[in-house]
Amino acid sequence: MRLGPFLAKRYIAGIEINDALRRALELNRHGIGAAIDNLGEDVTERAEAEAALNEYSALLGEIAKARADASISLKLTHLGLDVSRELALENAGQILTRAARLGNSVRFDMEGSRHTQRIIDAFLELRATHENAGIAIQSYLRRSAEDVRLLIKRGASVRLVKGAYKEGADIAFPEKKAVDANFDALMKELLLNGNQPAIATHDERLIDEAKRFAREKGVSKDRFSFEMLLGIKRPLQTRLVEEGYRVRVYVPYGGNWLPYTMRRLRERKENIWFVVKNFFD
Ligand SMILES: Cc1cc2nc3c(=O)[nH]c(=O)nc-3n(C[C@H](O)[C@H](O)[C@H](O)COP(=O)(O)OP(=O)(O)OC[C@H]3O[C@@H](n4cnc5c(N)ncnc54)[C@H](O)[C@@H]3O)c2cc1C
Repeated sequence: MRLGPFLAKRYIAGIEINDALRRALELNRHGIGAAIDNLGEDVTERAEAEAALNEYSALLGEIAKARADASISLKLTHLGLDVSRELALENAGQILTRAARLGNSVRFDMEGSRHTQRIIDAFLELRATHENAGIAIQSYLRRSAEDVRLLIKRGASVRLVKGAYKEGADIAFPEKKAVDANFDALMKELLLNGNQPAIATHDERLIDEAKRFAREKGVSKDRFSFEMLLGIKRPLQTRLVEEGYRVRVYVPYGGNWLPYTMRRLRERKENIWFVVKNFFD
């Protein structure tokens, strides 16, 4: 397991709130916002969900104290969605209320497909009374065009991502080409009609296309943002800021780093080779 923490280090700010805050402030100094995520998902015990609620409350307080440009991101299964829908709604509602009091906003990550409908339903219910809530949508899911249309109609802020979980071909596009094409289409719909959409990718072809399309359609640079993950394509983040675009970086922290790190490693064949090579060296 020596290798695990070593690999996680690239993608994760550290274990404590202060580690995340330090990274957020460092990004802020370069004109980049942060979206801080306390790592955790699929909890099955009420006590774990309550611990997550307390952590997020403390995090929001520390962000305000440090005057950091940092929103928060969370997973509803970390707040107890698998224990009960009511528990997750109650916890997320408390976090949204505290965030609003502190002038902050909260984005719900999108998780594996068995949660998609429940996350969207919970999000829409909460957003009816909490305008500071946003959500992520995955372009690899066949259903996402419809979801984006509905979320645009409701005025919700959408973060568009490709999707990071293993899904079957019945519900997700199996080919990268189709995932990218759907991202391109949904990105354009969001740029034209969305409420402060976040184009969350490191794919430079899609980023260039977003810039070209926004220019062509007269969508100003303050009406959308680019988002990336900590540890990936830092020079590109800086270049976009220099060009006048809004950039936000997802900053995960916490002890439960393994599932997130595995998703990041899976995305890169070179990373897998690196693991194998180091394991046997
Ligand atoms: C801000 C943000 C929030 C996200 N939230 C969610 C979410 O809520 N739910 C969800 O399912 N997914 C989420 N993701 C992950 C996303 O779904 C993709 O898995 C991830 O972004 C990789 O896809 P890509 O768009 O960068 O495109 P890819 O085509 O996968 O990558 C484009 C290029 O980026 C670089 N790159 C990509 N990944 C890595 C990596 N791990 N290490 C090093 N270089 C890399 C490579 O140069 C690669 O060629 C989020 C991503 C971002 C940026």
